[in-house]
Order: sequence, then structure tokens, then C-alpha cells
Amino acid sequence: MPLAEIAARVDQGAPIDRQHAAWLFEHASMDDLSRLATQARDRLHPPGEATYLVMAIVNYTNICVARCDYCAFYRLPKAPDGYLLTLNQVFERIEALKAFGGTMVGFNGGFHPKLRISDYGELFQAVRGRFPDLEFYETTVAEFMYSCKVSRMSYDEGAQALRGYGVRWVTGGGAEVLDDAFRKRHSPLKYEVEDYYDAQRAILQAGLGSTATMVIGFDETLEERLNHLERLRRFQDEMSGALPSFLCWTYKPYNTELGGHEVSTDEYLRWLAVCRLYLHNIEHVRTSVLTQNEQAMRGLCFGANDFDIPTEDEVTQKAGATIHHDFERILQAARDVGYVPVHRSPLPLPMRRAS
Ligand code: SF4
Repeated sequence: MPLAEIAARVDQGAPIDRQHAAWLFEHASMDDLSRLATQARDRLHPPGEATYLVMAIVNYTNICVARCDYCAFYRLPKAPDGYLLTLNQVFERIEALKAFGGTMVGFNGGFHPKLRISDYGELFQAVRGRFPDLEFYETTVAEFMYSCKVSRMSYDEGAQALRGYGVRWVTGGGAEVLDDAFRKRHSPLKYEVEDYYDAQRAILQAGLGSTATMVIGFDETLEERLNHLERLRRFQDEMSGALPSFLCWTYKPYNTELGGHEVSTDEYLRWLAVCRLYLHNIEHVRTSVLTQNEQAMRGLCFGANDFDIPTEDEVTQKAGATIHHDFERILQAARDVGYVPVHRSPLPLPMRRAS
């Protein structure tokens, strides 16, 4: 029976196979998924504790030429409601986060046809200079790729240039489902999967930090989801475990060209457990308050060990996400499922540095 075989692997701390992951998602009971994922989680993290921080996602521009059909956020160049924030506006947004006690800002924009690597570098250099007490996720792999193209730079050159400006993190955002059939259906202008990993490899080899993400709930098949996990696990092995964390969230379908329905929280939890079990080589698995609100805390019982409490993110809010500033509600929801929430510092950069 697959369950006994899978449980034996989890007991030994051995990786599970792709077919195990598929079986778990399709057939395992919620109790079994929770038990196995918690066992895998507790091997790496203190049982009964969950770490968190408060962060904002500052969307510095909504101008984008990628035209993904699942996106409610972007505006084409020259659209009357397109914007590019000034430096002072960015500073104001960061001050607002500080007023909430936040310690981390993630930047996220679009494929702006005029923003070069040097523009990003100068922005992030100014931000780090002004707020030395905060940590920043400066941009995403997807935006980095496009900006290298605009700047006529290779990924190696782009990553080295960003490092020269003091950039520390280019996160694995903009990944959604890393499968080429999915990409062709929904965002053919964005990138191809191996190109994405070429860019992320260059980022890591330049000594910058990066992370892994995934979004579920579009129209992706189980095979496409598994392709994402399988390629990611291989990449993490190739890079000797350089990605410290994995975050999965759910698609919000409102105001998008693609439309559709939201997946249920139970489906999210089932997938989160599969991710924890399959991605045995990624230490931190985070649950998404941004798209699941208090329900995200149930993810702590399905393999997650960490979460962010967001104060703003226009990208998901435009597509239907709701953000509350009553943080205690979230923390109480963690306690209600048996976890003590522990405030943490932003993760340190992985130790590996380019030679
Ligand atoms: S998801 Fe990102 S890349 Fe795609 S259209 Fe929206 S802003 Fe542009």
C-alpha cells in the first residue's frame, strides 16, 4: 500500500517519489497528510512553534508588457491609470510599514519596458541607505530577467551589477506554475522554464539570495504542478540547497481575463503537505496569509513552519485578496491550531558566495 511505503520513507527522512506525491494529493486522508507533513516539518523545526514577520509588498510600478491572463494588476504603457512611484512615494510606503512594526519589504512591479538594471540598482541602493534597519526582497526573478533584456545584459552581468548596488535578494516570485505548457497557455511573453532557472542560477552564483515560490488554482493539471516541484527539487540539489524557503499561495481569480474559481482551503492544505514532503531539500515552508487569511494558520498543521503577515500587496488585492491589519487575529488563529507564534528576524543570506 503506498501509504505504508511513503510513511517508511518519511520515517527514514528519505525523499518521496513523484508518484508518491501524486498519490498523497489524490488519495491520502487529511489526517494522514497532516501527520506525515508534521513529522517531516518537526525534523527541521521546533515542534509546536511557528515563526513569522510583518512585511509589505511595495508595488513600485503597475506598468507591464507581459500581459499574463491571470493578472488583474498590470496596465500597459500609456494606460491612464498606469504608474511608476517616485522615490519619495516608495519611502512613504516603507514608513507606513514601519508604523505597523514591519521589518521586511518585498518589491514587486511588472515588465516595465524602460526600467534597466541600473534603475533598479539605484532605487534599491537609495532604499537600503535610508532604511538600514529593515531587510528587503529587492525584486523577483521574473522582473530581473526582463530588466536584463531591456539593459542588454546577460543574467550574469545583471546579477553582478545588482550586487554592486548592494542588492541582497532577488526572490523567486513570478514563478506561478513552472511548466512550459502552462506558460504558453497563460503568459507566453513572460519566459520559458529553463530560462527562468538560468536567471536564478546566475543570481545565486553572484552571491545574492533567492527563494522558491508557486501559485496554484489556475487551470493547471496535477502533472503540471508536479513538474514544477520536480524541477525545483532538482535545481535545489544542483545549487546545494541555496534556496532557504518555499512559499505557495493560491490564485485569486477576480478582475482577471482568465477568471475561474478559487481553490478550497482544503485543497491548498493538501498541496502544502505534498510540497513539504516532496521538497525535502528546502528547509522553510511558508503558509500564505495573503491569500488564505486566518485559514492559512491551518497550514502549520500541514507542513508549514513560517508565515508573513502582510500589510499591503496591490497585485493580489486587485484580484480579490483581503488584507486586515488586526495582526492579533492571525496570531490567535495560530494558537488555536496548537502553535506558538514566534516573531523572527528576516532570514540571513545563505552563506555561499560567488568566488
Ligand atoms: S503577473 Fe507580473 S509579469 Fe504577468 S502581467 Fe502581471 S505584473 Fe506583468
